[in-house]
Amino acid sequence: TEKGCRKEKNQNIQVFVRLRPLNQRERDIKSLGVVEVQNGREVVVRQSQQNMHTKRFTFDRAFPPLATQVEVYQEVVSPLIEEVLAGYNCTVFAYGQTGTGKTHTMVGEAVSDELTWQTDPLAGIIPRALSQLFDELRISNTEYTVRVSYLELYNEELFDLLSTTEDNSKLRIYEDVTRKGANIVNGLEEITVYNKNEVFKIMAQGQERKRVASTLMNAQSSRSHTVFTIVVHMKENSPEGEELVKIGKLNLVDLAGSENISKAGSDKRERARECVNINQSLLTLGRVITALVERHPHIPYRESKLTRILQESLGGRTKTSIIATVSPGHKDLEETMSTLEYANRAK
Ligand code: ADP
Ligand code: MG
Repeated sequence: TEKGCRKEKNQNIQVFVRLRPLNQRERDIKSLGVVEVQNGREVVVRQSQQNMHTKRFTFDRAFPPLATQVEVYQEVVSPLIEEVLAGYNCTVFAYGQTGTGKTHTMVGEAVSDELTWQTDPLAGIIPRALSQLFDELRISNTEYTVRVSYLELYNEELFDLLSTTEDNSKLRIYEDVTRKGANIVNGLEEITVYNKNEVFKIMAQGQERKRVASTLMNAQSSRSHTVFTIVVHMKENSPEGEELVKIGKLNLVDLAGSENISKAGSDKRERARECVNINQSLLTLGRVITALVERHPHIPYRESKLTRILQESLGGRTKTSIIATVSPGHKDLEETMSTLEYANRAK
């Protein structure tokens, strides 16, 4: 059986699902919720009214509509902070249909207010991760520097969301000859963050640049990926007086809407017709994750910019968490099923 052939679960990849609440518009039209979370790990989808046909999926954890930003952060990201402080690379992806809560999960709504963002319950993963990192570094016996970069990938083109200049033409990805399997985005600004109070300014700048860039490119934001990277350099002295250097990295990725690949279909003619909808980086990411889960000898990192940028943070000793976001609504059923199937393949 398929189950029997399946190799042991890849413990370095964790898959979560977050179900958003019905929104006002859906409630206004009395839309039916067809997705439910049960027992904290199961997602049940009612596929039709008549025969009560349901499909059930199990994940490392499934978050119901009332799950808070704090709960999601604690469960998914907090354990990764320990890994980063130990000098490892971690990546969190938000994957799902446009409008299901990827940006809500990654950024949150609260970074709009300088005075209250640190205590705002709606703050998302990025500000919380920086905040926890600073809290833990401050009480450690370590000399440290924290640097962040924020980039957007649209149509396989790169944009620096924290750059102080308008010129993006210098951004290129090339291999880092000093580290096997690592690529560098040349020209990408890395901003040193000295304390928590600066996080707000950086987030605000990134959001503003994102808005400007999308207007300039006349871009559909649902087709772009954003990668927020936190790099922590740590230096401590061992009891023997030896100097220990560690570098940990956390990539927080808000992916393009998954509808950009699922519409590609399996039929060849259909695929050709819809090929404008295929997002190379999203497609390749799926293949890379499948290859890692199934432990293929060849991982196709090189086939997209996103997977090249993240190459040294995917596979090996790194940890990857995927948060698949889904809508409860009846009209989104098809996309919800395809998101859950994608997430299920990543387990
Ligand atoms: P995406 O980035 O996937 O396109 P957004 O994060 O922009 O989706 O979410 C779409 C809308 O739904 C936003 O107004 C957001 O505030 C709201 N939303 C998403 N997830 C949740 C949630 N878990 N709880 C409350 N509101 C949510
Ligand atoms: Mg979004």
